Amino acid sequence: MATCHVVFLPFMAYGHLIPMADMAVLFASRGLKTTILTTSKTAHRLAKSIRKTAGFTHQIALHTIDFNPEEPGLENPDQVISNDQFCRFIEALPTLQEPFERFIETTKPNCIVADMFFPWTTETASKFGIPRIIFNGSGFFPLCVSDAVTRYRPNVSSDSEPFIVPHLPHEIKLTRKQLPQYEGEEFKVFMKVFIQSMEAEAKSYGVIFNSFYELEPEYVRHYREVMKRKAWHIGPVSLYSKTIEEKVERGKKSSIDEHECLKWLDSKPTGSVVYVSFGSMVNVTNAQLYEIAMGLEACVSSFIWVIRDGQEASIPEGFEARMEAEGRGLIIKGWAPQVMILDHESVGGFVTHCGWNSVLEGVSGGVAMVAWPVTAEQFYNAKLVTDVLRIGVLIGDVEWSAHSTCEGVKREVIERVVERVMSVEEGGDMRMRARELQEKAKTTIEEEGSSYLDLSSFIENIKSFQQ
Ligand code: UDP
Repeated sequence: MATCHVVFLPFMAYGHLIPMADMAVLFASRGLKTTILTTSKTAHRLAKSIRKTAGFTHQIALHTIDFNPEEPGLENPDQVISNDQFCRFIEALPTLQEPFERFIETTKPNCIVADMFFPWTTETASKFGIPRIIFNGSGFFPLCVSDAVTRYRPNVSSDSEPFIVPHLPHEIKLTRKQLPQYEGEEFKVFMKVFIQSMEAEAKSYGVIFNSFYELEPEYVRHYREVMKRKAWHIGPVSLYSKTIEEKVERGKKSSIDEHECLKWLDSKPTGSVVYVSFGSMVNVTNAQLYEIAMGLEACVSSFIWVIRDGQEASIPEGFEARMEAEGRGLIIKGWAPQVMILDHESVGGFVTHCGWNSVLEGVSGGVAMVAWPVTAEQFYNAKLVTDVLRIGVLIGDVEWSAHSTCEGVKREVIERVVERVMSVEEGGDMRMRARELQEKAKTTIEEEGSSYLDLSSFIENIKSFQQ
C-alpha cells in the first residue's frame, strides 16, 4: 500500500498556525507523509516544526502557494491593524484556491486538513474524491456553546441579564454582552466566511480537534452524538514539545533569552509566579496596560508579563526598574516562550485572554487561571475554565469586543482577582484540579491514551481513501 499523504492548509494566524504545525509533526511521527501548503511570507514561521521531523521516515514537506491580497504586503492576520484591513485580508483568501487545487491535482493526497477559514476546500476535496477535514483552532465546548447560541434568541430584558444556554450538558449562563456581535457593514465579509464555514462543517468528512477527551467529555459526546459530527481529538498538541528548545520557539523567535528566563523562574518558589499574556491578536489599550502594571505592583505575587513591542512607554515610569530591583517582575516585550514558562513549576497562575491554545497550554501546565476574555469564542472558553473545570476566576464584568480591544478593568479588580487565584486556599484548590487535568493531559497522548487512540482511528479512516 502506498504511503498515506495528508495535506495541511493552515490559516496564517499564530493561534491556528502553531497547533496545525504541531499536528503535522505528530502525523509525521506516526509515519505519514505530510505537506504543509502556505504563503511565501508565512513559510519561515514553520521552519522549526519542519526541522523536528528531520529524522522521521518522511520529513514534513513545505510547499508555498501564491496569495494575492488586495493590499500588497498584507499577508498575515497579525499585520492587520483595522477591521477594514482584516476584512480585506479575509476577502483575499480564496485567491489561494486555484494554486491549492493545482497542487492537489498533481499530488493526489489521501486527505486535506484545512482551516475553517478555507470553506472552499470542501468543494476541492469532493472534486478529487478525497475527504476534507476541518480544523477550527477551537475546542468541543466552545463549538457546542456557539452552535446552541447561534440558534437561540435569549428572552432577556438587558444585555447584562444572564440566560441559560439551552440543550447543553451543564447549566451554562451567559449574558448578551458576552456574545459575539459581528454586526454592520464592516463585518459583512467576515460573516460570509463564517456562514460558509459552518455550512462546510456540515458537509465535510469530519473535524479534528486540538483537545482531549478527559478535558471536556460531555462536549465531545454532545458534538458527536447530538450535533452529529464526525470528530477526532488528538491534543494537547503542545505536549509533544518536550525539550526546552522545542518549547521555546513556537511560531516566532522568543524576545527573551530562554536561559535568562529560566534562571529567573528557577529563583522563585513553586507555584508563586503569575504569568500574564493576551496571546497574539488582542490589543491591550495603553490605559489598560497602566492599570495592569499598577495592579501587579500591588499584588504580593511575582509575575512575568508579556507586552507588545513598542508599548513600553505606556507602563508607569520606573515600574520596570522597580520590579527588576525587587526581583518581582519580568517584562517580556514581544514574543514569550509561553509553553516553556507555563510548564515551569514556579508558575502557579495565568492571567489569560482565554484563546483556546492558551487555555490548553495552561491546563497542560497545571496552573490556575484568571480568565480575561476579550473577543471571538474566548468568553465560552472562559466559562469552561471557571464554571465547568473550576480552575479559574473571571476577571470581572468584561464585555465582548468586536475590535479585540482589552480595556476598562481597574487596578483594584486586577489585584483582587490575581490574589484570589494565587492564594493558598481558593487558588490552591483550583491548582489541585488543574494538576489533575495536567496528569490526564500527559496520559492522553501516551500510547493507549485517548488522544493517541483517536489519532490511530483517524489514520485508519483516511487510509481507506488511498488513491
Ligand atoms: N504565544 C507564544 N508567545 C507569545 C504569545 C503567544 O508562544 O508571546 C503562542 C501561545 O503559546 C499559543 C498561541 O501563540 O500557542 C496563541 O494562541 P491562542 O489561541 O492562545 O490565542 P490567539 O493569539 O489566537 O488569540
